[in-house]
Amino acid sequence: MQHRIVVLGAGYAGATAAGRLARRLRREDVAITLVNAEPDFVERVRMHQLATGQDLKARPFTEMFAGTGVRLRLARVTAVDVDRRTVTVLDADGTEDSVEYDTLVYALGSGWNDQGVPGVAEHAHQIASRPGALRLRERLAGLTAGQAVVVVGGGLTGLEAATEIAEARPDLDVALAARGELGDWLSPKGRRHLRKVVDRLGITVHENAAVTAVAADKVTTADGSSVPAAVTVWTTGFAVHPIARATTLEVAGTGRIVVDGTMRSVSHPDVYAVGDAAQAMGPGDKPLRMSCASGTPMAWQAADSIAARLTGGKLPNAPLRYFNQCVSLGRGEGLIQYVTADDRAVSAALTGRFAAFYKELICKGAAWGVANPTLGMPGRRRAVRQQAPAESTVRTAA
Ligand SMILES: Cc1cc2nc3c(=O)[nH]c(=O)nc-3n(C[C@H](O)[C@H](O)[C@H](O)COP(=O)(O)OP(=O)(O)OC[C@H]3O[C@@H](n4cnc5c(N)ncnc54)[C@H](O)[C@@H]3O)c2cc1C
Repeated sequence: MQHRIVVLGAGYAGATAAGRLARRLRREDVAITLVNAEPDFVERVRMHQLATGQDLKARPFTEMFAGTGVRLRLARVTAVDVDRRTVTVLDADGTEDSVEYDTLVYALGSGWNDQGVPGVAEHAHQIASRPGALRLRERLAGLTAGQAVVVVGGGLTGLEAATEIAEARPDLDVALAARGELGDWLSPKGRRHLRKVVDRLGITVHENAAVTAVAADKVTTADGSSVPAAVTVWTTGFAVHPIARATTLEVAGTGRIVVDGTMRSVSHPDVYAVGDAAQAMGPGDKPLRMSCASGTPMAWQAADSIAARLTGGKLPNAPLRYFNQCVSLGRGEGLIQYVTADDRAVSAALTGRFAAFYKELICKGAAWGVANPTLGMPGRRRAVRQQAPAESTVRTAA
């Protein structure tokens, strides 16, 4: 009988995991099903580009997974029962169905996080999802010269959004509101460059400005001042979908599934979680941040661990670590901030056009890896041990 592996979510992490599993395991031994709500791959790291009117390459899953043996299921996951090993899905025609699994890979990613700030849900725009980016695109297209756009959040997404909007629409009055100082997590070289680009693009920066309320035409900051905003773009972090929290899985306070070094749930050994939905510890015992940079290696780790446990092979032992943070600052400018293994900036940074080119290569490479799920890695398919249940092959994580 085939071992049923069900992967929920075909973002960077889920699609990568499904492809790698298909590469690692013999088709006659496993049935791999990839469930996703949308029919094509969404390059989330380019949502600020989509919002500013750029068109992204279409990447239908049917093409990406053709010939790989991975079965695609276009459906929305509504619940997971990890005790009965079933997933409830709503198919595209609205029919509810139940999908059974032997091993589950949970990779439903995240959405925006309004953090409960008054007015955000009603008035702010977001670029954490494609529908959000498309709504902002429409709204920006309707703005006339001199109207104000405030991007709230001084992290990577906020910087990318503010610079992209200011570059694409120099006629608008673009501002960035950051809780701390501009780029305060960057090296001195990185900060200097960021400031130079932000100034050149004419972006007004409000530092130490925690936004406490959003209205249709302004944002209010903690000191009581207000900044006019015809459009507010909210980029203060991501929040995971509530599905995992509603299960008996052990989740962190954020709702992310707590996993060990092999990306396996610490409470349910037949469940793995990867990408934004998972809380895995990185170097320095810090949770890996929600990012494509950590989601893809997490997916490799999960797929290799599942394959190893099913085939009696050696568990992977690759440490998950960071190398750099790649920030686009519009299309012609960028910043590559080198970091320690646990993601703290070091003095070295790449700037300028070369950094923009490097960042573009990273985005293209990430999408290429997803679009070519069974290519680009060595390995041979291994037979699943049929004589014993998967659990009996488990070894301790390295
Ligand atoms: C504008 C922007 C810029 C970014 N830039 C960077 C960057 O430069 N570097 C970096 O490392 N990270 C960046 N990120 C973060 C990065 O995009 C995410 O961390 C990454 O997409 C997480 O991958 P994932 O596979 O876990 O989730 P996702 O990419 O969110 O994929 C989740 C998948 O699950 C599907 N799904 C969700 N809910 C359901 C459901 N109920 N049923 C069925 N399917 C469902 C979705 O359709 C999607 O296909 C950026 C994010 C944004 C928004």
